[in-house]
Amino acid sequence: MSEIAPSQPRLPNISFEFFPPKTEEMERSLWETITRLAPLSPNFVSVTYGAGGSTRERTHSTITRILNETALVPAAHLTCVNAPKQDVDDVVAQYHQVGVRHIVALRGDPTTGIGTPYVAHAEGYQTSADLVASIKNRYPDIDVTVSAYPEKHPESPDFDADIDVLKAKVDAGATRAITQVFFDNDLYFRYLDRVRARGIDIPILPGIMPMHNFKQARNFVTRAGTTVPSWLDEKFDGLDDDAETRKLVAATVAAGQVQKLAKHGVTDFHFYTMNRADLVFAISHLLGFRPNGAQKAA
Ligand code: FAD
Repeated sequence: MSEIAPSQPRLPNISFEFFPPKTEEMERSLWETITRLAPLSPNFVSVTYGAGGSTRERTHSTITRILNETALVPAAHLTCVNAPKQDVDDVVAQYHQVGVRHIVALRGDPTTGIGTPYVAHAEGYQTSADLVASIKNRYPDIDVTVSAYPEKHPESPDFDADIDVLKAKVDAGATRAITQVFFDNDLYFRYLDRVRARGIDIPILPGIMPMHNFKQARNFVTRAGTTVPSWLDEKFDGLDDDAETRKLVAATVAAGQVQKLAKHGVTDFHFYTMNRADLVFAISHLLGFRPNGAQKAA
């Protein structure tokens, strides 16, 4: 009697986000991180674009180095802030020329600070959907990813208006969205229901942030509109001066979040690495990832 081999559960897709380093020391540290995470074979790695385009050159050189020195697929973030269309188009053209085929297209935050009204550059792209359309019209071979907000963007009057913006970006050619950080999985699933009900069927990758430095990360994500639940505050309570325990707690919290999402059928995860490998490596390990393709089913 022949035996049917049990089908292996599929591993999820993972991707990692980095920010462009400011100093030589940060550059060395980023490359140690990339060297540690690359053997996990992420689907892509993205590099952010500093507020107001302030890292234009550094984002470009980080992306180029990833292209030249690794087998990773880089995705370059790009915003419309504070720049005429021509400048933004030049950045896209340079990326395309060096072989980049994935851009994370964003509007960006107001140069006057989060929470102040956004004013588009008079000769610039007026919305993120305009930027997506322009990239796709000129370079159909560039894959465009956009942002999504499970708690709605702070500027959105309501979820309908927020999802209108996502719909416009998808209609303009975006094929994937990455969410803002969230800690309550129910928020993600409720958002997903709303998005699917609007007929948007692209993958919506949950953006997962292991909170290495809770206090600092808490300030940062709160400003961007993410709710930090009281149970999360309690988990880090009393650990301000205990980095070692904080790290273990951060790994446990993020691993728990990811494993619950996976159990409910989520197949793609995007990690905000903060340019550090340790926690993201451990969480990927728990998902079943092993270096150099020696994968285990999760
Ligand atoms: P959009 O998706 O275009 O819009 C967000 C919301 O703003 C909409 O839902 C809507 O409510 C409102 N809105 C926008 N346009 C209009 C309009 N014309 N009329 C009415 N309401 C409007 N920032 C950086 O500077 N660099 C980065 O590299 C970067 N990477 C990011 C990656 C991800 C995955 C995410 C989630 C965010 C990132 N950001 C980055 C932050 C982002 O720039 C800010 O959240 C910014 O405020 C919105 O940009 P967006 O592309 O998400 O906006």
